[in-house]
Amino acid sequence: MEKRIPFIAANWKMYKNQAETVSFLKELQSAVGPCTDREVMIAPPSTALAAARGAMNLPGYHLAGQNCHWEEKGAFTGEVSGPMLKEVGCDCVILGHSERRHIFGETDDMIQKKLTAAFRWDLLPILCVGELLPDREAGKTFDVVSLQVKTAVQGLTREQSQKLIIAYEPVWAIGTGKTATPEQAQEVHAFIRGLCASLFDKAIANQTRILYGGSVKPDNVDALMAQPDIDGLLVGGASLEVSSFQRIVQFQSVEK
Ligand code: PEP
Repeated sequence: MEKRIPFIAANWKMYKNQAETVSFLKELQSAVGPCTDREVMIAPPSTALAAARGAMNLPGYHLAGQNCHWEEKGAFTGEVSGPMLKEVGCDCVILGHSERRHIFGETDDMIQKKLTAAFRWDLLPILCVGELLPDREAGKTFDVVSLQVKTAVQGLTREQSQKLIIAYEPVWAIGTGKTATPEQAQEVHAFIRGLCASLFDKAIANQTRILYGGSVKPDNVDALMAQPDIDGLLVGGASLEVSSFQRIVQFQSVEK
């Protein structure tokens, strides 16, 4: 089986100004150092991206937008495009985050267009999927996640699907302090890997990195990362403090 390099991502949402971003990144990099056996991604607010780029100077660190529009430019007030993210030094972009889906009304079709556009602009997309609590309680988790993944990846080339990163984020676990158990997360991750095998092929599925997100904290990171199909994490709240994010980045390594 292909080795999947762990990918630990911070989603700062609408937190941190430029000065806070720079001081966080300096502190984190001096505490963690260059990353060779794992990758770290930081997604600050758009207004702090350029400052973040200037403060990131070690190998193994990626800079991401939290969203991007599918068009290159146009009359889309409040939106940011892929080329604009590239211009400020991003190499990644988070797409389909549950807050985008459920607060701002993004649909699977919009996310599919964004995913295609991200690849067009050479941004590595982190595609977020996950069920609401009523979906889980109704036994519909696999149906919901399956539709979200299937719709989003429509039209990807083989080369693009090889690079795609998927983040499974049960909506009921985001920002609630209620983490999925490692077993609950593993079950859905294994399902997503199987889905990738049927949508792409087994070789691609084996190399696809599937991240878990939803109240990841220093005290649950090791158990989550020990699961065979959890290849990394997407972290909100606990990524805002250097000490907690450092501990998450430095999860206890396990051979899989
Ligand atoms: C997120 O915003 O993607 C997230 C997982 O947040 P939290 O870690 O705070 O649950």
